[in-house]
Amino acid sequence: MIKVVKFGGSSLADAKQFKKVADIIKRDSSRKYVIPSAPGKRFDGDTKITDMLYSCYAKAARGQDFEKEFEDIKSRYNGIIEELSLDISLEEEFNTIKACFTQKAGRDYAASRGEYLNGILLAKYLGFEFIDAADVVFFDDKGAYDSSKTAFVMRERLEGVEYAVIPGFYGSMPNDTIKTFSRGGSDITGSIVASVVTADVYENWTDVSGFLIADPRIIDNPMPITTITYKELRELSYMGATVLHDEAIFPVRKAGIPINIKNTNKPDDTGTMIVESTSQKPEYTITGVAGKKGFAVVNIEKDMMNSELGFGRRVLEVFEKNGISFEHMPSGIDTMSVIVHLDEFAEKEQEILAGLHRNVQPDSIEIETDLALVAVVGRGMRSNRGTAGRIFASLAHSNVNVKMIDQGSSELNIIIGVEEADFKTAINAIYDIFVMQRL
Ligand code: ASP
Repeated sequence: MIKVVKFGGSSLADAKQFKKVADIIKRDSSRKYVIPSAPGKRFDGDTKITDMLYSCYAKAARGQDFEKEFEDIKSRYNGIIEELSLDISLEEEFNTIKACFTQKAGRDYAASRGEYLNGILLAKYLGFEFIDAADVVFFDDKGAYDSSKTAFVMRERLEGVEYAVIPGFYGSMPNDTIKTFSRGGSDITGSIVASVVTADVYENWTDVSGFLIADPRIIDNPMPITTITYKELRELSYMGATVLHDEAIFPVRKAGIPINIKNTNKPDDTGTMIVESTSQKPEYTITGVAGKKGFAVVNIEKDMMNSELGFGRRVLEVFEKNGISFEHMPSGIDTMSVIVHLDEFAEKEQEILAGLHRNVQPDSIEIETDLALVAVVGRGMRSNRGTAGRIFASLAHSNVNVKMIDQGSSELNIIIGVEEADFKTAINAIYDIFVMQRL
């Protein structure tokens, strides 16, 4: 049995957290490959090492003095070394990094040092081999992740290595410079390592016990999700449920490896299992409900629109030419609505209106803002009659006016557009009917 275990920044924020992590790893000998993030926040209002590195490097890049910022970073690591009584010094590493900052080695290089140094410390503490991610994770000339080179080199490097620490978040470019994934990217490194070694499970340790059915900022103490499929997770995370980096599911998913989200501070909680598919019946009809504010609707009206060949294409062409992707497109006989992100749309609003007038000569165009979308997601909805009925009855009871409805053909999700002012009420109503009343 092989487990690849990734620990997020808050799990490794200080010596106390390092101890918890070591306990977790030593408790199960199948936890062989460890992917650390950089030290995160120790308390509310604290700064993550990654952010400290970014601002320190910004000064270096401007040719300003960055001594103070650099010392602050050093003292975070030195604090961990001292408290854990580690027989190691990072002084040489610090000197190299400082010199590279002065020579403007790049923002990605700077940020990556957070995980790099943390990896060295964790490997020392655990007595595991340290493997620099720059030697086993690769990007191509264009900066895209190079999965075949990575798989080939990493597999060979890990051959015969029983236990290792590989820092998350970065890899190297063909010209040997360092490149990072986007923020939160250690999740991706963990997923890559899990797929390369064909792990039995990819454990992603963080500071929450997995996904919850609804956002805890909206619902008091929402129930946890014990099992979720990759598809359901895509739908929910697109709508704002963030525990895992969006791109982290692809490498393991391809290899058929489940992800287990676990809580470093409550290691005995089951957490959430993310799987390809499951015969396990979900506990409730819905797996989760999530949503986002900040959408706009462009309503286009034109008599006899439905018989005009290519109308939809010409509408969408205008959005495409302006670099705006659309989210949904509900339509009637003589109306078509295009739902877009307000912040992107606002910048191009007038160009788009002019383009629509030119391209489709509408009778009228109306723009509505303040739209929120709520996604009700669940594999359990597929086989259940009346789910939509219950959703809309509960919204009506709560006096929420539904402005748009969209059900994916997979019957995995129903998306509802409501006014932003009704957003919380809508989520409450849906949570209440399916979870509290267990319908
Ligand atoms: N340390 C990086 C960040 O803060 C990557 C990660 O934690 O996954 O985004």
